[in-house]
Amino acid sequence: MTIAPPGPVAGSPLIIDDAQLIGGDWVRAADGRTIDVVNPATGEVLARVPRGGAADVEAAVQAAEAAYPAWRDTNATARATLLFRWAQLIEDNLVELDKLESQEVGRPHWGPPPMAGQLRFTAGQADKVQGLSLPTYSPDAIGLTLREPYGVVGAIIPWNAPGPMFVTDVGPAIAAGNTIVIKPAEDAPLTALALARLALEAGIPPGVVNVVTGYGHEAGAAIPAHPRIRRMSFTGSPQTGTLIMAACAQNLTPLHLELGGKSPQVILADADLDAAVPAIARGITLNTGQICAAGSRVIVHRSVHAQVVQRLAEQMSQVKVGPWHEQVNMGPLINAKQQERVLQYMQLGQEEGADLVLGGGRPAGEQFERGYFVEPTLFDNVDPQMRIHQEEIFGPVLGVTAVDDEDEALAVANGTDYGLVASVWTRDVGRAVKFSRGLLAGQVAVNAALGAGVIGGPFGGYKRSGFGRTMGADAVLDYTTVKTVSLRGTGA
Ligand code: ADP
Repeated sequence: MTIAPPGPVAGSPLIIDDAQLIGGDWVRAADGRTIDVVNPATGEVLARVPRGGAADVEAAVQAAEAAYPAWRDTNATARATLLFRWAQLIEDNLVELDKLESQEVGRPHWGPPPMAGQLRFTAGQADKVQGLSLPTYSPDAIGLTLREPYGVVGAIIPWNAPGPMFVTDVGPAIAAGNTIVIKPAEDAPLTALALARLALEAGIPPGVVNVVTGYGHEAGAAIPAHPRIRRMSFTGSPQTGTLIMAACAQNLTPLHLELGGKSPQVILADADLDAAVPAIARGITLNTGQICAAGSRVIVHRSVHAQVVQRLAEQMSQVKVGPWHEQVNMGPLINAKQQERVLQYMQLGQEEGADLVLGGGRPAGEQFERGYFVEPTLFDNVDPQMRIHQEEIFGPVLGVTAVDDEDEALAVANGTDYGLVASVWTRDVGRAVKFSRGLLAGQVAVNAALGAGVIGGPFGGYKRSGFGRTMGADAVLDYTTVKTVSLRGTGA
């Protein structure tokens, strides 16, 4: 059922109440059900979105299939121009988008999300997708490779940074000529819907970008299970990633997985602690630790161990917690389930025998009662075998482990199933090189906690952090498949 925009909700002119985008129309769920989107700092309902399911995904796939031939055949420079226009609209609406994302994620302002720049980087690749000319056995033939889009692709994104995630998946997919069905997380779907609205406004044709909202086990599960989704991309937890991969296996659908992390921050004896400590404290409290790249394990040389723990405790105790619209450094967690999970890990760390230095529970005070707040938490003397050292917590929980030498530091840093991001802090170039090569992670940063701001760096995991890369120079190429063409004249 198509519905008319009833006016702004969530304080945003970009959001239409109870509407998802299918084939250029803002529609309710096929069965009319809805989900409340809640501000995790206050429990206030921000908006309703459709509780989509398999029927909605089917409608979205059909709309994407209908739009595909014309979009595929739109010349690549014209596609790029539309993406640049979309990027401009994102930039024009950045304050609004930032406010929306802050409200639904519950995070304090952390600077404008890097969406427009990312999209421009991708748009620039749209008309640089090139094939090869190939040698042939005889001179009357020509060999070529064509890079072609897959068709209708599917994507599922999480709630921790919905705007950048949306752009990271949708941008390269459509730049390459695919059409897409994407499901944002039920906890934070609003920024994605707003971005899709701007894509339409930019002139990207109806049906090229389709957003189905809903729960993971309903709308989400229906996307990889759909037999006509030709490529799948998933960002989220390893547990859900496993389900997605199993669903893709049924249809032999190619898959890109971007999963969790348990990123080490290695502090060597010669590190600049004035730089390391604030960056690490910020890295684990930014977005309340709900960042797959968050450095959650400090692995420190014993000679500076005591000093590092003391300084981290000082730094983390100054992190001001509260709702996003106040002058705070850290907001709540996304929902009650996450809060419960993080509190359990805080308890578990103590039961496992780590020393609780700071935090360990919910902050006290009336202003925290309605939101999903937890304290910035620091554990010392964490044994590498402990679960709080091995498992992703996705909260502001930092563990410190002392080591005696560089080899032990590397072994402990690499001793988990994850391999997303890793940092090493040192003033010595030789050590920096050794760790850059030795750390098993898709991204290694030297003297920076969350990466040192590389433009166009490919992003993705080693080991169980996933496979495939987003963003880099090949982001659009990754959304194409290769056809070999051989041409022979008829001899006329
Ligand atoms: P979390 O548990 O932290 O929400 P998830 O990995 O479960 O992390 O969520 C990431 C995304 O995956 C969300 O959009 C969510 O709706 C979706 N999702 C969750 N479960 C499933 C599932 N069984 N099939 C498909 N998508 C799912």
